[in-house]
Amino acid sequence: MGDVIDEQFFDFPTELRPCPICGTHDQKPTFLLQIDGTSDGRICEAEPTHVDCIRGRLDRLQYNRKFGLIYMRVEPKAEVTS
Ligand SMILES: [Zn+2]
Repeated sequence: MGDVIDEQFFDFPTELRPCPICGTHDQKPTFLLQIDGTSDGRICEAEPTHVDCIRGRLDRLQYNRKFGLIYMRVEPKAEVTS
């Protein structure tokens, strides 16, 4: 487990899983991005994701009123298998 930077952001290692946005393993502040469809109601899978990758792409966020979703489309990275 990574070091706590503040209550939301951590320094989780991206050595095993790259950031799903930029596809790199750069060691920068991350947060755990929950993976849709993996929750059992208590816990779910998550990817360590760079904070600055989200902050730098806020203009790419989209809101789906019908489903109550805020999302960002990213290009699948070769290392992301699921
Ligand atoms: Zn990134």
